[in-house]
This record gives sequence, C-alpha cells and structure tokens, in this order.
Amino acid sequence: MQKKYELYRGKVKTVYITDNPDLLIIEFRNIVSALDGNRFEYFDRKGMINNKLNYFVMSMLEKAGILTHIEALYSKNEILVKNLDMIPLECVIRNRAAGSLVKRFSLVEGEVLDPPIFEMFLKNDAKHDPLVNESHCETLNLVNVNHLSYIKSLSFKINHLLSRLFNNIGLILVDFKLEFGIFHGTVVLGDEFSPDSARLWDKITLNKMDKDIYRYGLSGLIAAYEDVANRLGVILD
Ligand code: UDP
Repeated sequence: MQKKYELYRGKVKTVYITDNPDLLIIEFRNIVSALDGNRFEYFDRKGMINNKLNYFVMSMLEKAGILTHIEALYSKNEILVKNLDMIPLECVIRNRAAGSLVKRFSLVEGEVLDPPIFEMFLKNDAKHDPLVNESHCETLNLVNVNHLSYIKSLSFKINHLLSRLFNNIGLILVDFKLEFGIFHGTVVLGDEFSPDSARLWDKITLNKMDKDIYRYGLSGLIAAYEDVANRLGVILD
C-alpha cells in the first residue's frame, strides 16, 4: 500500500490518499488541541500512543461485531483505514456528567446519568459544533433517518462494550465521542477512540486520565495516556 499525498490536515491528525481509492492513511501527530483548536501544544510520543490505543480499541470492537474503518497499523503513528463518506456529526454518549453537559444543565461533575445520554453535534468548528437533534438531522439532510437510528443504537452498543472494557481495568468511561461514515452503503465507525475523544477516570482516585488534563492546565498528560494504554495491554515503543 503506497501513501500518495495529503488529503486533509486536521487539528491533530492528517489524512493521506493511497494508491487504493478505498483506503486512506491517518497519521496521529504529536499535538494536543483544545478550545476549538485555539490552543495547541506539542507532546512527544502522543501520536504513537493514540494510534496504538485507537487500533487496540477499534480491533476489540471489530471482534465484538461492530464494523469499523480500521484495516491495519501502517506505522507507529499511522493507521490504514477504509475511505468512508463521513457523516458530519459528532455522536456523544455520556455515562456521567462532565464538560459541556455540566455547564448546560448546572449538574455536578461525576453525577451518574441513568440511562446514559446520547447527543449529536454538527461537525463544524466555525459554528462551534452546535448541538443538533434528530429533527435537525432529517430536515437539514445531515444523515439519512434509517442510518441515524442505526447510529444511535450502535453508539449505545459501543458504550456497553467499552464501559465493560474500561471497568475491567479500573477506569470509568465518563463520556466519549464517535464519528460514523458510509462505506459502499454501510454505516461504519470511523475517526478514532482515544483519551483525546473520551473522558476516562480512575475508579478509585477519580483522577482524570484524558484530555481534560490539558484542558484544565494540569500536568502528566502523556503519563496518563500511557497508563491507559498499559492497563489495556497495548504494546508501546
Ligand atoms: N469531544 C471530542 N471532540 C469535540 C468535542 C467533544 O472528542 O470536538 C469529546 C470530549 O472529549 C468528551 C465528549 O466528547 O469526551 C463530550 O464533550 P463535551 O460536550 O463535554 O465538550 P467539551 O467539554 O470537551 O468541550
């Protein structure tokens, strides 16, 4: 598989065209970003850790019957994936109150949300990713209605699988974001799962082990990401 040229440079990942139109390469860069990309910082090893952690989690989901875009690890910080037609939504599942939900409803951070909340945000940095509901999706033609109900049920299924996975290694899956796309007519999980796009807390200490460390200006981001990877049994360099 030959990497050809850069297709798209995101805030922390770069997407490359390959010589196969059905396949892309995603590079995880050594960057962390917050505040709609207005704050950036370089962290050595971050790209490699997130690439391997994402590959591990997505492979586990594949084994559990969830279709994902992953094909193979391409290098230590790159992955070969299916070229999806991305749905412009960020689907968020919340098991506990944190982040924007706490602000929106004046909740206490950490409050258990039973049943878990499913939310969708339009993927649009310029508009600051506004919250959208099923009616917006239908009228604004953001996603086909059948695909939408499937995406929602898939998100809950993924939540079930990942909550169990992280619970078994002493972590609480507080919330996370998923993105889906269409590959030859079928809904497939795309993008990434990593501590950049999820909140993970230690079950005993409730310490944050995700991007909130950076959002809140705390130290130990890479040590926390490495700890998550090590607990999962991911082999790092
Ligand atoms: N999230 C993400 N990308 C975004 C916005 C949110 O990956 O552009 C993740 C975030 O890391 C958290 C979950 O989605 O795990 C819910 O985020 P929230 O709405 O609380 O927003 P935030 O507090 O991150 O601004």
